[in-house]
Amino acid sequence: MKLDPKQQTILLELANTERSLDVVGDKAFVTPEREEVDRLLKEQQRMLNASAAAQMAVDDMEAEILRIQEDERKLRKRAADDKAQLSAELDEERRRDLEHDRYSVKSRIADLMGELTECHNQIHALRNNRDNHGARCDEIARKLEAAQRAAEAAEAASSAVQDPAEHIADLRAQLPENVLAEYEAQKNDSDVGAADFNGRTCGGCYIVLSGADQERIRRAPADELPRCPECGTYLIRKQA
Ligand SMILES: [Zn+2]
Repeated sequence: MKLDPKQQTILLELANTERSLDVVGDKAFVTPEREEVDRLLKEQQRMLNASAAAQMAVDDMEAEILRIQEDERKLRKRAADDKAQLSAELDEERRRDLEHDRYSVKSRIADLMGELTECHNQIHALRNNRDNHGARCDEIARKLEAAQRAAEAAEAASSAVQDPAEHIADLRAQLPENVLAEYEAQKNDSDVGAADFNGRTCGGCYIVLSGADQERIRRAPADELPRCPECGTYLIRKQA
């Protein structure tokens, strides 16, 4: 196949652009800034879940404290009732029962006070933990906001760079129909179509060619596109 050496550079750029698109596909359009946003969104979700769990632990402990306080209030009332009855009761057996009840009520109140102290100690730690989680959620929200702005800026900047599809269309418009048809046919055959030749190796299949083949390719006329004897790819030599 014959092609003006100036247009050979265009064909090579077309082949390289199409190859790079095949390799990276849609991933080429995800900026590192957007990946950072996605990472922060996942981190934020984890932190919100942890924060909700921390709040729930505080709520449970507060409910437990209220329950203990309510039990204590009932027991103190019962102790007061026992005391009032004792001051009027004359029957020995009744008095013994009341004394016994008063004693067991007092001992239960003492147990509850111990539980309450333990709960108060724990709730400080739980509230601290909840507040720390809240602060970290706020921090992630701030980071996320900044990352969103950075991602939008990066996307605006990259869309200012030419769209690969447009670039490809541009390059194709500069090449003769018959060359494009031959290139397409070879691309269907070897996936590459056209590639650079560094003097030794085919840029399509990366096979080091024999000395005789290297020589044949080097000596081909400048407007001729020699083919790789291994894969058939059109080889484009460095322009002198
Ligand atoms: Zn080859």
